[in-house]
Amino acid sequence: MTQVNLLDFDLDGLAAFCEGLGEKRFRATQLFRWIHQRGVADFGQMSDLAKSLREKLVTRAHVVAPPVLSQHESRDGTIKWLFDVGGGNAVEAVFIPEYADAEGAALERGTLCVSSQAGCAVGCRFCSTGHQGFSRNLSTAEIVAQLWFAEHFLRRHLGVEQRVISNVVMMGMGEPLQNYDRLIPALRVMLHDHGYGLSRRRVTVSTSGVVPMIERLAGDCPVALAVSLHAPTDALREHLVPLNRKYPLDELLRTCTAYLASAPRDFITFEYCMLDGVNDAPEHAQALIELMRAHAAEGLRAKFNLIPFNPFPQSGLTRSPMARVQAFGKLLNQAGIVTTVRKTRGDDIDAACGQLAGDVRDRTRVAERIARQRTVVLHPVGGRTATQEKADS
Ligand code: SAH
Ligand code: SF4
Repeated sequence: MTQVNLLDFDLDGLAAFCEGLGEKRFRATQLFRWIHQRGVADFGQMSDLAKSLREKLVTRAHVVAPPVLSQHESRDGTIKWLFDVGGGNAVEAVFIPEYADAEGAALERGTLCVSSQAGCAVGCRFCSTGHQGFSRNLSTAEIVAQLWFAEHFLRRHLGVEQRVISNVVMMGMGEPLQNYDRLIPALRVMLHDHGYGLSRRRVTVSTSGVVPMIERLAGDCPVALAVSLHAPTDALREHLVPLNRKYPLDELLRTCTAYLASAPRDFITFEYCMLDGVNDAPEHAQALIELMRAHAAEGLRAKFNLIPFNPFPQSGLTRSPMARVQAFGKLLNQAGIVTTVRKTRGDDIDAACGQLAGDVRDRTRVAERIARQRTVVLHPVGGRTATQEKADS
């Protein structure tokens, strides 16, 4: 009998599974809490479940995350895990801590950046995942497992019992809205009080602009929305984000305006990757201001996040100089559009935004890398892995 991975279920799904075993819904709630709130995978330890249920579960189900191929910790506390999702595919999750004090004693916010696909079909020019091509959708279990593993690993590592991850951003590898049916149950696990209990404001879906799915998200599970804009005109955006041919700017921005009616925040975050000599001139800022003004008149409220481009060799692109990024942000802010420049984190371990595929060039390379990394023995965080030593040297 094949075993079902219980990380694949939101609470309703788990209740249906338990009903199939002749069990009542409250049993599913208990099980769900053991798994997600306590991080327990061994049914034998779930002491308040009847022995008969535990026995049924052992034969029919399991709770497993994909194997961790490597774990790297950056000097700034960022931790990146590479998970083996089989068939030569690997995906990454990144934990980004923000501390209230310089000593790093009080964790103010812990953000986990989660992947939704192995590779990506959108093929944005500036994105190393896009350059890999699309391999496959992750299952709900594979999406949830990144949070389940990271949260409980971090609690053990930091020696705490309370929640460590306070925010989730679907900004890892892949386009989450092109894996919609697996994404929604995963979001529900993140939000549910018996799961991770994250508020809708603290779970962000980032999309390159899959218009019909933004509309569906508003009805099914309205979490915070980030839209990767990158350009003020259709001509330039088509060049950078090929999906723009299907869903051009005006249509995308109108959909964002409509999303606000259900959104947990009263603005949409727009991400704008700063590419040297491509989209970073004062004229681009001006065109962007005009575009946003036109849509503000229809009710769009927006904040901008300027992301300094993380270069990778095959892109043929370079990062805008910091002065140009600042000048661009200043123009937007002066026009009344709240704009921040994203700090790059985890640079030294290739965990910075958009670098999640590391130096992976295609799936064959991924397979080779996975084969090599199978031999890496994991040390506790703060220790060093063999690959890290190689990368540092
Ligand atoms: N597919 C979704 C989410 C994953 S990408 C999306 O495109 O929104 C997460 C963010 O990283 C996006 O804003 C994307 O534009 C940005 N990004 C991708 N490659 C990057 C790079 N090389 N440098 C900086 N940001 C990058
Ligand atoms: Fe896919 Fe997002 Fe990368 Fe574009 S930026 S290729 S949508 S992961």
